[in-house]
Amino acid sequence: NRDQIIPAMPLPRRRSVPVDVGGVVVGGSAPVVVQSMTNTDTADIESTVRQVASLARAGSELVRITVDRDEAAAAVPHIRDRLRAMRIDVPLIGDFHYIGHKLLTDFPDCAEALDKYRINPGNVGFKEKKDRQFGTIIETAARYGKAVRIGVNWGSLDQALLTSLMDANSVAAHPVSASAVMKEAMVQSALMSSQRAEEIGLPRDRIILSAKVSNVQELIAVYRMLASRCDYALHLGLTEAGMGSKGIVASSAALGILLQEGLGDTIRISLTPEPGGDRSLEVKVAQELLQTMGFRAFLPVVAACPGCGRTTSTLFQELAKDIQSHLTERMPVWREMYPGVEEMNVAVMGCIVNGPGESKHADIGISLPGTGETPTAPVFIDGQKAMTLRGPTLAADFKQIVEEYVER
Ligand code: SF4
Repeated sequence: NRDQIIPAMPLPRRRSVPVDVGGVVVGGSAPVVVQSMTNTDTADIESTVRQVASLARAGSELVRITVDRDEAAAAVPHIRDRLRAMRIDVPLIGDFHYIGHKLLTDFPDCAEALDKYRINPGNVGFKEKKDRQFGTIIETAARYGKAVRIGVNWGSLDQALLTSLMDANSVAAHPVSASAVMKEAMVQSALMSSQRAEEIGLPRDRIILSAKVSNVQELIAVYRMLASRCDYALHLGLTEAGMGSKGIVASSAALGILLQEGLGDTIRISLTPEPGGDRSLEVKVAQELLQTMGFRAFLPVVAACPGCGRTTSTLFQELAKDIQSHLTERMPVWREMYPGVEEMNVAVMGCIVNGPGESKHADIGISLPGTGETPTAPVFIDGQKAMTLRGPTLAADFKQIVEEYVER
């Protein structure tokens, strides 16, 4: 029975310890959380506030900002205050490397203003210094009641740990590949750091782990290993995913497989933006990934056929785009008034071949006339043909029908 070998449904979600990050729960039975990161200089308060606000409005439920030097740490409480004044309460995560211990100690207002600290065990220091500096960060988090993500990265792995595992592998009876040793080093680095954090006094429900690499297959493998050896909440993300469609495809492939296996409590789609490009694209992609896979619903889905030689006019592409924009614009109001509207499916199809069938499967659908067909467009509501549209007001009429359907 193939159904027993290849599950058609996602595997049950892995049981993880829920972590409260500034009021947003990551892990446990909470929905998978969408997060993103700014690319502004955090010391530039204006630009950072603007970008955090834009990401939050796009639907980012957590936003990470770089805290790399004194000026950035000093800016954090002001950024927090400015966002609150704008009624934007999105939890803020500080991204610390190398000198996080110093910044959190020297700028207590920054430590207080952030909801979570992201640290990298590979660059928190070496030997005794590492112990001391790591300890300072963890003690600060424990004192202020903040969450910590221990984020291991393939490109900045704990060199001492990696060297010792490589040495052991070189004299092992059955040595494994260098890539297998690296993955083991990533997992051990995350687990040893989290155990140390607990010994220092940070509770389990304040710890989130990640282990990012840039190769899709390696990422899947390393998260499977990590997930099987702990119950900490997991942050998923493909690092250095790349630009444009490459980054979107690579991230969706890797994260889609892990989510299907029940792994992952929060996701970030890291995309390299085009110069001047819209940073919130990564939020949109994360939402679409979760919605496409059926884990969450953010916005009504518009199913549109790709079009082909049977459609000579651009009417149906224009209508599909128009309807998608209309739904996006109306959502802030609809979300308040009509809970569940985000689960609605709309179909806009180009001809009679698949049009009526696909439209019947949607909550509301329209099948536009293809080449040589009668210039009429049947509309289907809840699987039944409800009316036929025609003429120059067809697009406006369909939008009105969608509007009335939502209200009803
Ligand atoms: Fe082409 Fe019609 Fe299929 Fe759309 S529904 S892709 S127009 S055959």
